[in-house]
Amino acid sequence: MKPNWAVAISAGILAFSGMMTLASAERRAGFVFSDPRGIGAEFQLPNPATVSHTIFMNRCAGGCTLTPGSDGTQNQSDIIGNSTRHISQFGGTDAQWNAIVSCVKQTYAPFNVTIVDQRPASGDYHTAIVAGLPSEAGQPSGVLGVSPFSCGYLPNAISFSFANSPLPSSAGHEYADLADACWTVSQETAHSWGLDHKHDPKDPMTYLPSPDPTTLKVFQNQAGSCGEGSPRACNCTYNNSTASMNSYALIMATFGPGTPDSTPPTVSFQLPAASASILPGFSVIANATDNVGISKVELRVDGNLAGTSTVAPFQFTTSTAITQGMHTLELTAYDLSDNTGKATETVQYGQSCTNGGCTDASQVCVAGTCQAGPNTTGGLGSTCTNNSDCVSNSCGDDGTGNKYCVTSCDPATAGACPSGFGCISAGTSGVCWPGADSGGAGGCSTGGNGSSTLMLVGLGLGAMLLTRKRG
Ligand SMILES: [Zn+2]
Repeated sequence: MKPNWAVAISAGILAFSGMMTLASAERRAGFVFSDPRGIGAEFQLPNPATVSHTIFMNRCAGGCTLTPGSDGTQNQSDIIGNSTRHISQFGGTDAQWNAIVSCVKQTYAPFNVTIVDQRPASGDYHTAIVAGLPSEAGQPSGVLGVSPFSCGYLPNAISFSFANSPLPSSAGHEYADLADACWTVSQETAHSWGLDHKHDPKDPMTYLPSPDPTTLKVFQNQAGSCGEGSPRACNCTYNNSTASMNSYALIMATFGPGTPDSTPPTVSFQLPAASASILPGFSVIANATDNVGISKVELRVDGNLAGTSTVAPFQFTTSTAITQGMHTLELTAYDLSDNTGKATETVQYGQSCTNGGCTDASQVCVAGTCQAGPNTTGGLGSTCTNNSDCVSNSCGDDGTGNKYCVTSCDPATAGACPSGFGCISAGTSGVCWPGADSGGAGGCSTGGNGSSTLMLVGLGLGAMLLTRKRG
């Protein structure tokens, strides 16, 4: 069981101590201890042939109906008492549901366990109900989850994670708190494999919050005390002792190791389209899919991390400080095993043009995009001291006292810069430099072999020596 501490605490000391009687395995307090051998029994590994490796996460679309009776038969639960119970459907959005499923997959990834959210057509499986309220299952309010429990694996058990429970602490619902919901489902399912509570804030078997509430709890491969608010003897004998439990080792012994996932995710741009014209603060939406699950998608603009999204639809809002010209967008999707998939495209900020074809006379055409020209403050070719003086945020310095606002261009493309400018190489790309097409302004221009150098302040490259050549 996992109580909602905010409820337990606000209800006062009595409710709190009621929760603590959970160790004595009273029904009121949560565990339904179904092991006839009693408290402290030796943890028993199941016969591998009897173990189902499937967890069916059931959102109870349209509601679930459960009948009283022993766990082990689908839709029958001995948690619910003597009457038929109706569990209301998961109250969150599809995106919230998918995020919880993905998180539980991630939590169980080390083990040979398959998480599905469609009921298997046949065979044995654990049902993790992730829906409803505790009252609907005959449980006291404040209980976030409950599971049958014995000192070993329970086949075909039904665990409950009451995803629709309000969370007074955050004025939301359990289903909207990904880390908390994931914690509850992980704990309740593992009770059905014979795991007790662990007095370890990093392990999902705990009652203790993480120091950072957004940190996901994972099964710890480390023996430690059982317990809720404080350490106590374990309800089962694990490894010849009731003094400690190792969650990871018990689950590994029950299910075996998972198969490493080497299939990378795929990712693409839903918005903006490739080569689209964009405006400052434009939005990016990524489509990302994976055979197991996506953990996050990152957006980079011109190589700089611009945002991280962990929940579909993977959406980003970019900086309003974007400069005129072409920009490279890159998406990186990570799956639950940290395999990555990438997509890149270029977009432009500014009116499209062919050379010389800008309707605004103060603008010039650079690489197909209109941008501020030399007669505009901060425009291409205007003098500058710092990057921030330039619309392009790039102030070039040829090392001989000439400093002009520059913009990137491709030296291999004829006519990449407007009239009066030439494209000179600058590291891996180039910049438009005044006079470089005529050999006039900007100093040194004599040789065809481009022997002089240019120092660039901007373009995010730091101070950099540039080989100059004719554009
Ligand atoms: Zn529990």
